[in-house]
Amino acid sequence: MHLVPPGQEWIKIYNLEHSSATSAYFFPRPCMQCDNPPCVNVCPVGASYKRSDGIVLIDQELCIGCRFCMAACPYSARYFNWGEPPHTELELSQPYSVETNIPHRRGVVEKCVFCPALTRQGQIPACGAACPQGAIYFGDEHEDAVTNSLGETYRLSEMLDSGAAHRHLEELGTEPRVWYLPPRTLSANDSDGFQG
Ligand code: SF4
Ligand code: SF4
Repeated sequence: MHLVPPGQEWIKIYNLEHSSATSAYFFPRPCMQCDNPPCVNVCPVGASYKRSDGIVLIDQELCIGCRFCMAACPYSARYFNWGEPPHTELELSQPYSVETNIPHRRGVVEKCVFCPALTRQGQIPACGAACPQGAIYFGDEHEDAVTNSLGETYRLSEMLDSGAAHRHLEELGTEPRVWYLPPRTLSANDSDGFQG
């Protein structure tokens, strides 16, 4: 959807295994849309900023390519365009938007943007909508409801109360807005509610 230039992984999938005695698992890493974003705090020109809805964006019209934000992000969620990215007519036909970072350009930083154009229309981000497993839930924390690609909707508070949900590196004080849920046991109860 974002015509992401080669070399960038706005949502990077790590294949992790804690030990030879445990099963490997996948760890998807988007931009965590931190509530206390170090990337924003170090930007010398205000190109990185957090909107009132909590989404962290980069204004490439302002970015001077210093890459301070890349050094500050503990999740390695930002990428720098060292060269001019390859373009398509579709990409170049669109006016620049800070919500899409399109058209992509040389000498600036980019990252996952949480698809604000979709969420404004009440849709979930493109990665969540494309996930065939319904593994990614998205929603407004204040509405206390999250939905996945299968149309399953749960209360966020109930998911988090299940006990083992965690935020990656939250001990750093970044207040990430992405929670990782405990492994889900598929059962007949799945249609009745979230089973952590
Ligand atoms: S994950 Fe990194 S780029 Fe995203 S808001 Fe947090 S510090 Fe900034
Ligand atoms: S690379 Fe751009 S967005 Fe990042 S800190 Fe420098 S000016 Fe700000």
